[in-house]
Amino acid sequence: VGKKQRPFTIAVVTSGGDCPGLNACVRAVVRSAIADGAEVIGIPHGYRGLMAGETQPLETRSVGGIIHLGGTILRTARYNEFKDPAVIKQAAERLDSLDVDGLIVVGGDGSLRGAWELSQLARTPVVGVPKTIDNDVGGTDYAIGFDTAVNTAVRAVDQIRDTAVSHERVFAVEVMGRERGYLAAAVGLASGAEVVVVPEAPLSVDEIAQALRRGAVKGKNSSIIVVAEGCPGGARRLAEELARETGYEVRVAVLGYIQRGGPPSATDRIMGSQFGAEAVAALREEARSQMIGWREGRFVRRELTAAWQEAPPFPDDWLKLAHRLAGIWPAPA
Ligand code: ADP
Repeated sequence: VGKKQRPFTIAVVTSGGDCPGLNACVRAVVRSAIADGAEVIGIPHGYRGLMAGETQPLETRSVGGIIHLGGTILRTARYNEFKDPAVIKQAAERLDSLDVDGLIVVGGDGSLRGAWELSQLARTPVVGVPKTIDNDVGGTDYAIGFDTAVNTAVRAVDQIRDTAVSHERVFAVEVMGRERGYLAAAVGLASGAEVVVVPEAPLSVDEIAQALRRGAVKGKNSSIIVVAEGCPGGARRLAEELARETGYEVRVAVLGYIQRGGPPSATDRIMGSQFGAEAVAALREEARSQMIGWREGRFVRRELTAAWQEAPPFPDDWLKLAHRLAGIWPAPA
């Protein structure tokens, strides 16, 4: 009689900024692994927790009652020391000493880059799952958290619009997106904004001023400008410059952290659950240094390098349609 085999064991960590849907993903990792006869341990506090050797047991009951909660029960962290190769080497040793059969990293492009570096030095296989409200991870059309953030920001813009209309004012609303304007483009189209300004397609103050004047001539008494955080100076600078150029009073609303929290939308619960189960299946099928992506309506496995080496998706058609439907922009030449 052979000695009893240790069950297949998976470690899971959430890294980088939190977002809604992470808990649905962690729950799916734990429960799909257990349904498969495997076991799961959690690594709290992102890569910092991995370095510190922190672990927590995760069982069926530990992930009960969390699918509807924002944030991450594992907690997360930014740990910039992880960019140091010596630190990654040490983290790889820590990971191998956990004696698990695989690590699932749920993170944005920065965390998935860290996951790849880790996978190059550790014996333990590493699989990544994309998350970020900015939807700016390469190798996938969708990242967990995006849908909820769009809905939260659209609700906020709807509320601001009431005041904009009643007081006949121009509002510049800044939405998150440190480097990218995917969220802004989605919010702009969904909220019926007159102007959407993103780093991928910058507009000059003069172009915006002319569009607002065309609107005024057509009888438009209020306007919403959606500005991605990643545009230099954000909504504040744009408002100042527009006021200077046009004499309009432009009010500013910076939505900030409200966009990151709150109960996940049904889409983020569904996607989070599927991403989690796909990551477990990938490890069981001996994937190493791969990420789960969502492409053309199905889940795919890609090399982790795609997360930061491939251009992230951008909805150029949404941006163009938002401007076309605003009715104050000249037709493109
Ligand atoms: P996100 O994962 O949400 O994109 P960050 O870019 O802040 O968030 O990255 C989160 C963490 O991932 C960082 O604090 C760091 O620990 C790790 N990380 C980021 N970039 C790298 C990199 N180039 N190499 C290794 N680790 C990285």
